[in-house]
Amino acid sequence: MAYVIAEPCIGTKDTACVDACPVDCIHPKKDETGHADAEQLFIDPVECIDCGACVPVCPVSAIYAGDDLPEKWVSFQQKAADHYGR
Ligand code: SF4
Ligand code: SF4
Repeated sequence: MAYVIAEPCIGTKDTACVDACPVDCIHPKKDETGHADAEQLFIDPVECIDCGACVPVCPVSAIYAGDDLPEKWVSFQQKAADHYGR
């Protein structure tokens, strides 16, 4: 199950995770359409290879393995899927 970005990204959105991802599956990046308007970044649930490299670089601990998402943030899994139309 893919990794998921949860609520703490909102208001931070510093894109530190983007540079850590080996498969470039976290968007919208700073140079991409929609970045300014996006509340948070999203991990593409199909492209993510579950490597966990993004987790330690997030300054606000917003990223979780899908199975480890805190109950209060489970909806963020669907938000990511919706973002990518998955
Ligand atoms: S777990 Fe790995 S592949 Fe998935 S978003 Fe994080 S860095 Fe990218
Ligand atoms: S590193 Fe954390 S706060 Fe920064 S964009 Fe990624 S998920 Fe959001």
